[in-house]
Amino acid sequence: MAELTIPSLTLHDGVEIPQLGFGVFQIPPEDTEGVVAQALDIGYRHIDTAGAYRNEKGVGAAIAGSGLAREEFFVTTKLWNSQQGFDSTLAAFEASLGRLGFEYVDLYLIHWPVPSEDRFVDTWRAFERIHEEGRARTIGVSNFRVEDLERLEVETSTRPTVNQIELHPRLQQSELRGWHADHGILTEAWSPLAQGELLDDETIVAIAERHGKTPAQAVLRWHLQLGNVVFPKSVTPERIRENIELFDFELSDAEMAEFERLDRGERIGPDPGTFVSP
Ligand code: NAD
Repeated sequence: MAELTIPSLTLHDGVEIPQLGFGVFQIPPEDTEGVVAQALDIGYRHIDTAGAYRNEKGVGAAIAGSGLAREEFFVTTKLWNSQQGFDSTLAAFEASLGRLGFEYVDLYLIHWPVPSEDRFVDTWRAFERIHEEGRARTIGVSNFRVEDLERLEVETSTRPTVNQIELHPRLQQSELRGWHADHGILTEAWSPLAQGELLDDETIVAIAERHGKTPAQAVLRWHLQLGNVVFPKSVTPERIRENIELFDFELSDAEMAEFERLDRGERIGPDPGTFVSP
């Protein structure tokens, strides 16, 4: 396997997380083991999946087949909206562990807050139990707004270590990132490439050309320099490799400022304030 050093960041509970990983949203279950095995071979050690992606089994199989110890990997999975609630969370977590074939996950996330159903506080109490039992090394949330994070702050005793949110040059989330920074919460950026939609942006193309890199690499490098954790998704071997080759160049302050000006506040995914279980 390739030797590649990916920097790690330290969460507020001391757990270390590789800053770059591999996302498997929309990878068909039957293809997942093969695609993840390729990513592991290229050097990825951090995988982001979810119960809702229906491909946890393939992720677990690829890791089991890697020949490396489970401790070499950082695996995140997520609790789906319809399974929120104390007892249903414990049962859903058990099912995820079973599909992964693991004794623990590295990071367990509440996938969406679903504020209209008002169950995320009870759900978080089940997360605290799972964490105390050592079956999730660390626990966090996804798609939470400041007001949702504030409720956890007031009503529970454990602060999430990460919030995984939609974040890319068209939706830079500076207010939420600032709140995270003030509260020691790490920002994970989902759809870091805006699902490929902004890779022909002329500013991004020009910055990439200046460094002899591709637009995808320039965008991912921008995330890393902001301090975000990213896990771009691809099923194409050349792109999977390209998306990890980010550690031999650096964007200048002026280039970071050029990126900052691309913010439009535009989502490609659902609004966390209104998104409910399908
Ligand atoms: P992404 O921004 O990673 O884009 C992936 C797409 O970009 C690919 O399908 C491909 O079309 C294109 N692409 C990838 N690499 C490229 C390259 N080098 N050159 C050109 N095009 C390239 O989008 P994503 O998959 O939606 O997000 C990444 C991960 O984030 C997911 O796999 C998942 O793990 C996570 N995610 C989480 C949530 C959540 O609600 N928590 C939602 C969406 C995604």
